[in-house]
Amino acid sequence: MPSIFTKIIDREIPADIVFEDDTCLAFRDISPKAPTHILIIPKREIVSLDDLNDEDEQTVGRCVMVASKIAEAEGLTNGYRLVVNCGSDGGQEVPHLHFHLMGGRKLTWPPG
Ligand code: IMP
Repeated sequence: MPSIFTKIIDREIPADIVFEDDTCLAFRDISPKAPTHILIIPKREIVSLDDLNDEDEQTVGRCVMVASKIAEAEGLTNGYRLVVNCGSDGGQEVPHLHFHLMGGRKLTWPPG
């Protein structure tokens, strides 16, 4: 089943898109948990980290590189966090792999 993120990729629902290439899409989280909260997703429909194949290595690497470039573009010079929630215990709600880029305030550790 395509998730809501596929609808964002396909422009069926609106999103505040900050970056796009052939591999990834990045857009602002609709319910931000930090002053900067951006989701970086692979365009390929990968449900979670548990569903990665060997051929996804470049895709995942690209998403992480894109996150770093966006952090720089957003001016997160004091640091930031890149988070992947996986599965039910990990708090994953949307079944399409995504990287949360959060910054702009002092983040606490550990997460709840
Ligand atoms: P998860 O809990 O790791 O799956 O995170 C899903 C994230 O997607 C949450 O932070 C939501 O606020 C965010 N989200 C859900 N729907 C939308 C949307 O339509 N646009 C942007 N962000 C969304």
